Amino acid sequence: MNRIGLGRDLHRLVPGRRFLLGGVEIPFDKGALAHSDGDVLIHAIIDALLGAAALGDIGEMFPDSDPAYKDADSMELLKTTFNRIKAQGRKLINLDCIIICDEPKILPYREKICTTLAEALEIDIGQISIKGKTNEGLGPLGRGEAVEALAVCLLEC
Ligand code: MG
Repeated sequence: MNRIGLGRDLHRLVPGRRFLLGGVEIPFDKGALAHSDGDVLIHAIIDALLGAAALGDIGEMFPDSDPAYKDADSMELLKTTFNRIKAQGRKLINLDCIIICDEPKILPYREKICTTLAEALEIDIGQISIKGKTNEGLGPLGRGEAVEALAVCLLEC
């Protein structure tokens, strides 16, 4: 049996924070406001993985009320999550993601993000898809006040 999982996250963008996507730092004058390092893409992927395995969500697994996760490295949270998935005997088949923000542009960093995630999730780069979308200047995403990520994954059980 295969199991599908869906994840979504959004963070406000503020000056003085790093802009991290999929474990890759992108030069930008703002970054995600968060208890952790604010890697919105990894957070969406974690929720997709947990959703596919019916293991709850990121907020339950890594509570933002827990000082242990203050400025937490999201890549480490992803590896912890993936280890739980693997411990259930499940295998990741593919991952498809969308990042929504008008700025910065995602395309120049797409390959590096895919390579970084493929390594962390022990899959081939051809099993990961990342797409950057703009919000056409509309709303907080279009004004550069927030960044949103969506992820869907398929697990083989
Ligand atoms: Mg988050």
